[in-house]
Amino acid sequence: GTADIDCDLLVLGAGPGGYSAAFRAADLGLKVVLVERYAALGGVCLNVGCIPSKALLHVAAVMDEVKHFESLGVTFAAPVVDINKLRTHKEKVVGKLTGGLAAMAKMRKVTVVRGLGQFVGEHHLQVEETTGEHQEKSGKSQTIGFKTCIIAAGSQAVRLPFMPKDPRVVDSTGALALEAVPKRMLILGGGIIGLEMGTVYSTLGARLDVVEMMDGLMQGADRDLVKVWQKMNAPRFDNIMLGTKTVGAKATPEGIEVSFESAKDGVTAPAPQTYDMVLQAVGRTPNGAKLAADKAGVTVTDRGFIPVDIQMRTNVKHIFAIGDIIGQPMLAHKAVHEAHVAAEVIAGELQGNKELASAAFNARVIPSVAYTDPEVAWVGLTEDQAKAQGIKVKKGLFPWSASGRAIANGRDEGVTKLLFDDSPEAHGHGKILGGGMVGTHAGDMIGEIALAIEMGADAVDIGKTVHPHPTLGESIGMAAEVAHGSCTDLP
Ligand code: FAD
Repeated sequence: GTADIDCDLLVLGAGPGGYSAAFRAADLGLKVVLVERYAALGGVCLNVGCIPSKALLHVAAVMDEVKHFESLGVTFAAPVVDINKLRTHKEKVVGKLTGGLAAMAKMRKVTVVRGLGQFVGEHHLQVEETTGEHQEKSGKSQTIGFKTCIIAAGSQAVRLPFMPKDPRVVDSTGALALEAVPKRMLILGGGIIGLEMGTVYSTLGARLDVVEMMDGLMQGADRDLVKVWQKMNAPRFDNIMLGTKTVGAKATPEGIEVSFESAKDGVTAPAPQTYDMVLQAVGRTPNGAKLAADKAGVTVTDRGFIPVDIQMRTNVKHIFAIGDIIGQPMLAHKAVHEAHVAAEVIAGELQGNKELASAAFNARVIPSVAYTDPEVAWVGLTEDQAKAQGIKVKKGLFPWSASGRAIANGRDEGVTKLLFDDSPEAHGHGKILGGGMVGTHAGDMIGEIALAIEMGADAVDIGKTVHPHPTLGESIGMAAEVAHGSCTDLP
């Protein structure tokens, strides 16, 4: 035909969505081509997202933990940070994982094509080869013919239009580059990404301000949890500006001068402030508008999202989309699960396997985690959402000040909170609808609450599940017993 390469499945973008789809499809026997503009596989998550941020956050958490130790009777010398070495550590972590992906692609005989892909027809993608660190076009291009396609082109950070182009203004990618530690840093946007990066920089010595348009940090998380986080983290901040928006910024020799306006009645915006570094973390925008998707007949919304059904299928029967590009929540674990669904549906349809072809994304809930110190993790309904939806809930709140393990760790500020259906039809045996935790390792434990929701567990199921003692995870069983009204007082 007219193509340089032909395949059963073309996957556009090698982030967690793209590589997971490519690998699953290859395992199911399809001939797969994976197109990625960067040299390294792994997308945002592995290269400039989940993984490098966690490498730095782990270091910050240990540095912070050590500070507590004086009161436990152990003193360490003040930490000395070699920022170049720390950066190298982070790069090694990323390199190990992206290198692993390249090996796995090879093992599965997935053909990786480097370059910028754009659709030129319903069954064709043109790839302009990119080289070097800055993705320069080499001038070479090839056309890939595909029977089916999965679009996994992800998202990128939103830039505020009035922000000056200046090295002191960064997005999460710039912040993760870890060039230097500023004295005064503004976090623009009080969401997970901004607060995670703020944690790293403040532990390394920066003073923080944060500005958030809404009236609370970490929108989406239960307020009882955020309250605990904010109390513990207050010392990092000079100023937490809620209900406030950023309306202008200019670069001066002294720093970036940022001006604010009230976004809410009763809030007085502060006078302009000057910062050594401004981190824009005001959200991410999907890459849907940059793919010439119309050439393939694929619908893209005005905001750049690609609508799909529960099988991840776009309006074009043989083209699917997954991950950040299809919508919120923009999280790696969501992308991976969607990837498996799309790959299975495609393999099922190409191979006449009805069971595979009927795969669908049916998750009831998707957990969120802020890997800050303490961590905040939540899944399903929050108390505010239950109230807004008129759902009567029974709550079980277990403060970690009653957890033997948390006390032994010297970190008993945490809280575990579970919400159960308390509507009359539930007859006192309502299923769990949501839950969250604030505290050390909260992110590692939230999966149990997600499982409980998926399985339709009630408070008795969770409370009677024997949790090991003494663990932080025990607090989930305890919270369920509190909700059920049969709290044992095992510390
Ligand atoms: P992406 O990872 O965005 O990958 C898309 C890929 O497609 C990219 O590699 C891109 O180069 C490529 N591409 C795009 N267009 C083209 C084209 N035309 N041609 C060729 N290639 C193209 N999520 C979590 O679950 N946990 C976390 O802890 C977490 N931390 C984060 C921290 C930060 C700082 C950031 C920014 C994000 C974080 N996320 C986290 C979100 C997570 O990174 C994303 O949800 C995830 O990467 C989305 O995967 P994806 O496959 O949809 O797309």
